[in-house]
Amino acid sequence: MTKYIFVTGGVLSSLGKGLTSASIGLLLEGHGYTVQHQKLDPYLNVDPGTMSPFQHGEVYVTEDGAETDLDLGHYERFTENAVLTKDSNYTSGKIYAHIIAKERRGDYLGRTVQVIPHVTDAIKEAVRAGAGGADFLICELGGTVGDIEGLPFLEAIRQFLLEEGRVNAMVAHLTYIPYLHTSEELKTKPSQHSVMKLREIGILPDLLICRTERPLPDEVKSKLSLFCNVAPEHVIEEQDVPVSIYELPQMLIEQGVDRAILERLDKPVRGLALEKYYALLERIRNPKAHVEVALVGKYVELGDAYKSVNEALVHGGFHAEAKVRIRRVSAEKLNPETVGELLGGVHAIIVPGGFGKRGIEGKIEAVRWAREQRVPFLGLCLGMQCAVIEYARNVLGWEQANSTEFDQDTDYPVIDLMPDQEGLEKGGTMRLGGYRCALRADTISRKADGVERVSERHRHRYEFNNKFRTELVAAGLVVGGTNPERDLVEIVELHDHPYFVAVQFHPEFKSKPTRPHPLFRELIAAALEHKGLPSSAESTSPAEPSGA
Ligand code: GLN
Repeated sequence: MTKYIFVTGGVLSSLGKGLTSASIGLLLEGHGYTVQHQKLDPYLNVDPGTMSPFQHGEVYVTEDGAETDLDLGHYERFTENAVLTKDSNYTSGKIYAHIIAKERRGDYLGRTVQVIPHVTDAIKEAVRAGAGGADFLICELGGTVGDIEGLPFLEAIRQFLLEEGRVNAMVAHLTYIPYLHTSEELKTKPSQHSVMKLREIGILPDLLICRTERPLPDEVKSKLSLFCNVAPEHVIEEQDVPVSIYELPQMLIEQGVDRAILERLDKPVRGLALEKYYALLERIRNPKAHVEVALVGKYVELGDAYKSVNEALVHGGFHAEAKVRIRRVSAEKLNPETVGELLGGVHAIIVPGGFGKRGIEGKIEAVRWAREQRVPFLGLCLGMQCAVIEYARNVLGWEQANSTEFDQDTDYPVIDLMPDQEGLEKGGTMRLGGYRCALRADTISRKADGVERVSERHRHRYEFNNKFRTELVAAGLVVGGTNPERDLVEIVELHDHPYFVAVQFHPEFKSKPTRPHPLFRELIAAALEHKGLPSSAESTSPAEPSGA
């Protein structure tokens, strides 16, 4: 039977509930339990698929093709085995869409449809569906207590705690302890008030996890315990981690969070087996080299817009024992005059995914620079499409070559909608989630992955246009992998170049710190070589498959 841990937040948003939830997942897996994660988002969008990355950061894609909140990326990265699905992210919009569809079908048999019990029932149903039979479901509620939109979720959680009983469900509340410089004091009042808000609804938190820039003295902890009605040993200090987000689980272990949860939910403490994790921390804390990678994108002002790409790069660095610095370059500022200045000196270049025309010419210019200057290059989704356009324009001389996303009338639509996608409305027309890719022999991708077939996640409408394949291949563009069912080109490579790989999928979604995605791992190895440093001995060790 699944045990449930709800993670709520108070005082401020952006406190790191996602990372805290993900860390709890790592701890419980360390005790040998199976873990599933879920995120409840109170906003009204049905899913984040249509939200701008400027507003909400990256859209994370699960293997089964759900477009979800970026916190799901943290959950998958921190755990070894949690497999997130369409049931792992529910918004108010998704809950309401379900209820309204039922109402229209007449499923409520003439009854009045209300927040309590209909919306709350649907939320509880969603939580149970998210558990997927795991030993633990860690369910994070987005937003901050006191938000109007979050109320039905908190009410549903209250009911859920009652239904499941005390030993089967608990609440960890994440809060913020500000430091007042003038009086040189850590202040507990905002946390007291946020717990009061929870108690108003009838929820008593079991763990109080306190974000703080400074250590919490014992008297502050006692005060929090007393006023928030939480056992003193369940007041946890969560200071800013000095080097990496992956240090957070260790901080929680040191304060016994794993034991507190297991004891509270009446599960045996099995002893933590986290050798891989501790070995990872060693590598993170002792980098032997530095490399700089340029990320040429449209949303570079907002770090979260390319969250998984940033993480995958950093993971590649962990493997090579190198610290990766990411130079964010705005594609719109990039042109033949500025390219040398903006990309000069970097050891690798990434062009990530994106939608729409803005910045496209800059991205194509970045590809040209990488190809001509022989800088290691990885193109992701739109990045691959730009690589194909660049090759068509500058190697084959098809000056007008383009994607029909940006130029409907081009004579060289090297990237185009496939026949079964034309004429369809936006939304629901995308290739979403895991698709198989057969890797060709003698390619960089095959060597990196070490297997013949992988499954990789997609989120796009346009494809490599096979009408131009023969000519592009004859001119030196290597097709590294194709989708076996539809013969869609998934990977292009250049072999007269130190490292040039561009993929139609998003390998960044499958990278973990302990298991970097092979294409990122090899990009960083190539970056080190470009810098004139030997790539770590480990990066030539047998490749780990990224999935089959
Ligand atoms: N805009 C491109 C498409 O729809 C690429 C999408 C992406 O990079 N995720 O095919």
